[in-house]
Amino acid sequence: MTRPDRPRPVNPPVERASTLLFDRAEDVYRTDVVTYGRHGLTVHDELKRALMELEGGAACTLTPSGVSAISTAALGLCGAGDHLLVTDNAYGPTRRFARLLARRMGLETEFFDPRAGADIARLFRPNTRAILMESPGSLTFELHDVPAITAAAQDAGIATMLDDTWGAGLAFKPLDHGVDAALHAATKFPSGGSDVLLGAAVSRTPEIGERIQTFATHFGVAVSPDDAYMVLRGMRSLKARFARQQESALALASWLRDRREVALVLHPGLDSHPDHGLWRRDFLGGGALFAIVVRGWSEAQVLAFLNALTVIGLGFSYGGFESLAIWCDPQLKREVGPWRAEGPLIRLAVGLEPLSDLVADLERGFAAAAV
Ligand SMILES: *Cc1c(COP(=O)(O)O)cnc(C)c1O
Repeated sequence: MTRPDRPRPVNPPVERASTLLFDRAEDVYRTDVVTYGRHGLTVHDELKRALMELEGGAACTLTPSGVSAISTAALGLCGAGDHLLVTDNAYGPTRRFARLLARRMGLETEFFDPRAGADIARLFRPNTRAILMESPGSLTFELHDVPAITAAAQDAGIATMLDDTWGAGLAFKPLDHGVDAALHAATKFPSGGSDVLLGAAVSRTPEIGERIQTFATHFGVAVSPDDAYMVLRGMRSLKARFARQQESALALASWLRDRREVALVLHPGLDSHPDHGLWRRDFLGGGALFAIVVRGWSEAQVLAFLNALTVIGLGFSYGGFESLAIWCDPQLKREVGPWRAEGPLIRLAVGLEPLSDLVADLERGFAAAAV
């Protein structure tokens, strides 16, 4: 029974469909409408619209995870015989994907110093097709001079991508700084629930969006409507959560800077961070993920610290409601120059818990590491 005068739901319907039925046989090969579930339905369109609005983009491709956003965008923009530049502070799965491209798909991938700035042009070759950035690096928190890199790339006709998972489209707006595609693990802040995997590539121009979407379509990259709905639901509260989490993170980072156990706090919003100037120039917020370098701790001390935490969970990821910690040294692999620090690096993802609970938890950790 249809009731055309019924008030409508706030949110779009989750249509679970592979098959769509046509009223007329003449319509089955239409190209101006969606004809099959893999191409995305109402909830996918709504989520794309929200992500495009967040980043100020002209197009959006959804992917089943953050890693698949990176792989889909990279393969949409480059192919066999092309040279792809990848930042040397990229996180592990991006590095492994870059090496797989080189080994299996005939691309030349080369890592570049995250602090290269305009000097990146020295690495350009006639076949350089794209640059993949991550700013800040989600393990070691160096920032790129993004406008310098995108200006050099534009002069040379090279496409640029930036993994904006840390900034969530709120602390940083890559497209405003000339980046062609902002890549997201929507798994993190947009979802906010630590219960779904999803990715997105938001493109600055329809042309870049078309190249990425064409690859996604032909490669069979598809997203479940339930997953898309979960992320859309999370995005309703993204701004409020992010604001609260970044405020707690900055407060914790400042508190940690004064601890004698801490040699360095890697948070670009602190004036002690080497890239704080770039942060002030280009960023709109401080994020909720940062790291500390603890002064000369042994591995046993790091493990004692982490095992004493009762509020902060031990786990990869970030952007959820719950705080997390992880020891990063085993994955701090570099190609261009080695990672050097005065001690082990512990990464903290700040959630929505009361700040006093987090401080008390870290104090428990420091006490356990001292014995
Ligand atoms: C988590 C993460 C990804 C990958 O997201 P998944 O959804 O887990 O595949 C990509 N980039 C960064 C910086 C991340 O932190």
